[in-house]
Order: sequence, then structure tokens, then C-alpha cells
Amino acid sequence: MKHCLQLTLSCPVSPTAFCVGSTLFVPALSPLFQTLRPHFHTFPPGTGDPAGLILGDGYSRQIPGNTHAEANALANFRSRYAELASHNLIPIETVLREAECYATMEPCSVRTSGGPSCALELVRAKVRAVYLVSHSLSSLRIERKVLIQKLVHQGVEEPPDFVQCEGVRILEDGGIVVRRVVGLEEECLKAARRGRS
Ligand SMILES: [Zn+2]
Repeated sequence: MKHCLQLTLSCPVSPTAFCVGSTLFVPALSPLFQTLRPHFHTFPPGTGDPAGLILGDGYSRQIPGNTHAEANALANFRSRYAELASHNLIPIETVLREAECYATMEPCSVRTSGGPSCALELVRAKVRAVYLVSHSLSSLRIERKVLIQKLVHQGVEEPPDFVQCEGVRILEDGGIVVRRVVGLEEECLKAARRGRS
């Protein structure tokens, strides 16, 4: 998760969107670790993150447009894996089933700009687990919804029934294990708000 926090520093800042980092990885205990080891980097030392291979890093607006961290991490992994086609590696679907994902914020359940939500993208990719910082889950998602609301309906007060981000529910309903990372709440919050007053 500390590696993901570093990624948020690369996000182009936006007055109406958060800075989020996300990493798709294969844990060291995965049976695929040794096979994939020659082709992917491990987490940088000193991040406190567990040993694992980074399949793809993503951050907000990394791919031009209003793109999201988790979807970008998936897209970056898919293009990297396509480049490795000549190595006859295991099918990408098999890798994704062993993959886990860090995100500094709860994956979105609705894209105001259209397209599938990050939570849905992760479900479709069939990743095994998603790690979130425990707060995402309260203050940030409310703030994000208010922000979206402001953007879409200027000055309309946020109705409480629109406040819930459904990301965690979509992930869990889709069979993904959602794990909470405790202790980095403030850092993730600060990173998310970078560039905004
Ligand atoms: Zn998203």
C-alpha cells in the first residue's frame, strides 16, 4: 500500500477528482510467482509491502482522460502481458485469478463519465483479493460523492441515499475477497486530496 501511495504523487492534480494509486500484484506465495519472476519487478524495498510481483501500476489520470487508478493498473498489465506473448507464458486469465490488488481508495461503483466502474472491472478480471485502507469506506467516499454531485448537479445537496459507494459490495458480490489495511488512513486521505483545497 505504501508503494501505491507513492504512485499517487504521479497523478496530474484535478480540482474535481481524487488522486488514487493502485497496484495489481501476484503474492510471493502464489504458485505463479517463480514463473512470472523473470518478467516483473518485485515491490521496492523499504515500502513495508509484502513480497510480491508487480503486474501493473495505475494511478488517476495516468492514461489520458478522466481515467481511474484500478482500471489503469489492469490496462497496463494487459498491455505488458501482450508484449510477453512470445514467451508463451500461462494464459492471462490464469494470472488474473492469482492476482491481488491494492487501492488507496475504495474502487468506484459508478463512472459519471460512463464506462464500467473499477469495482466491476476487477470483478470481470476475476482477481482474487482487493486490499483497501479502512477509512475508504466512510469519509472519503462521502466526500467523493458530494464532489461528483457538485459536478453533475451544481449546488444540489447530497441526498443521503446517494452517498453510499457500492465498490466493496460489488467486489464481494463478485466473489473477490476484500481486505482492510489499517494504519495508513491519514496518508491515503492526504494523498487523495492533493492539489485541492
Ligand atoms: Zn474507478
